[in-house]
Amino acid sequence: MAVRPVLTWGDPRLKLNSADVGDWSAELDQLVTDLFETALDEEGVGLAAPQVGVNLNLAVIDCSCGEDPAQKLVLINPVIIQEEGSQVGPEGCLSIPGIHEVLERPQRVQIRTRRPEGTWQEIWGEDLMARAFCHEIDHLRGRLFVEYFGPVKRQVLQRRYQKQHKAS
Ligand SMILES: [Zn+2]
Repeated sequence: MAVRPVLTWGDPRLKLNSADVGDWSAELDQLVTDLFETALDEEGVGLAAPQVGVNLNLAVIDCSCGEDPAQKLVLINPVIIQEEGSQVGPEGCLSIPGIHEVLERPQRVQIRTRRPEGTWQEIWGEDLMARAFCHEIDHLRGRLFVEYFGPVKRQVLQRRYQKQHKAS
C-alpha cells in the first residue's frame, strides 16, 4: 500500500480525457488500493485515477472516510444514466486543497459501472454519494469542479488558491 502524490490545479494532466479500463490486472488492484489509501490520507471522500497521473476511467469513493469498509466503492468506466432533483452545498477537491465552494449538483444520481471481473452494475447514490459520483466522473472527463463557475469567480478562486500555496 502506498500513498501516491496528488496532482494539483494547473497540472495539464488533470485536463485530459481518460481511457476505459480494459482487462483487470494485479497492477489495477494495486492502483485501487493506493487510491483508497491516498484518499484516506488526505481525508477525502473520493479520488480519481487521473489525480494521481493515471488517465484511466477509474475512481474510488468512500463516503465513510475509512470508517466503514462496506462503503468502499470502486468505479470502473462509470457513466451517469439518470439524475433527479438538486442539492446545493459546499464541494472541495483533493487537487485543489483549501478551496471549498458551494455548487449545485443533482440530489440523486444513478450510474452504470463495471466490476473488476467485467460484469456491470447500476447504483443509485443520494446526497454526498450523488455529489461524489458527479465529481469523480467529471475528473475522468478532465473537468474540475471550479470549472462550473464563470471566468471572474474562477480567477478569484485561482488567486486565493495560489496565495494559500505560495508560502508552503
Ligand atoms: Zn476532485
